[in-house]
Amino acid sequence: MTKIEIPPDHPRKVSLETRETIIEGHESHVVATAGLLAHGRGEAFDYLIGEKTTELAELAARAAVAAMLSAEHPVISVNGNVCSLVPEDTVELSEICRAPMEINLFYYRKEREDAIKDALFAAGAKEVLGTHDHPSATIPELSSNRRKVDPKGIGAGDVILVPLEDGDRTEALKAIGKFVITIDLNPMSRTAIYSDITIVDNIIRALPLMVELARDMKDLPKEELLQIVKNFDNTENLATSVHIIMKHLEASVNDIGKIREKMNTGANEQ
Ligand code: ATP
Ligand code: MG
Repeated sequence: MTKIEIPPDHPRKVSLETRETIIEGHESHVVATAGLLAHGRGEAFDYLIGEKTTELAELAARAAVAAMLSAEHPVISVNGNVCSLVPEDTVELSEICRAPMEINLFYYRKEREDAIKDALFAAGAKEVLGTHDHPSATIPELSSNRRKVDPKGIGAGDVILVPLEDGDRTEALKAIGKFVITIDLNPMSRTAIYSDITIVDNIIRALPLMVELARDMKDLPKEELLQIVKNFDNTENLATSVHIIMKHLEASVNDIGKIREKMNTGANEQ
């Protein structure tokens, strides 16, 4: 597919380019068809939060990085959308935090697993867990193929980053005692609510930010990192995130009126 040229001043430029990336990911078998729809749901929430990283999301990202750096065995769970949108940043975060990457697919196909593995290696990964040639353990709380975990990865992990995850699996990870971090634009999703730390932001902005924070924070003493995690309150974080959306909606009521007034004045002058 040829990439569509988007004019530099187009108000939805980044969003449209990201859409192109995820479509390409679908064509190369990295992204499931349902992944395209999940992305659309994410896009809608990004629109509602104003398509930028809020100060609140930055605080959550800081707490998340502190949790990963102070963990005994942090792990990053990777699905097709994550791999398609931020492969290099995922590999880099994995290296800085010494958190292995584990492939985790809602819609398993060997072809997809291979495509994701290849894309992660192409982005610089040295090891990828969760593939069919690794031994697997199961999460008893879950049915279907989503039960599978790699005993070297999530099976042994204490702090698990699961960006763009489904609610059932997040709930199961909590039920087996994991500390769960997620990146999810919808502060009302079950994943957002079940997680210990939810970064309410687009993964295309959150992952590069986490890499930057991890570089800055990696030599902080463990007690300081643990204190940052302890001071973070996800209930407050999620409630404030919903308020940010509400404020944004309120503001848009006025904006719509202003734009239409200007449009009508322009039409009358012609
Ligand atoms: P849940 O199962 O947690 O209740 P859900 O069923 O609404 O959520 P899923 O499709 O299971 O949604 O999970 C995808 C989640 O990822 C959605 O909440 C969606 O908003 C979010 N999402 C999609 N794309 C992005 C993105 N680029 N950045 C951050 N979040 C995203
Ligand atoms: Mg779901």
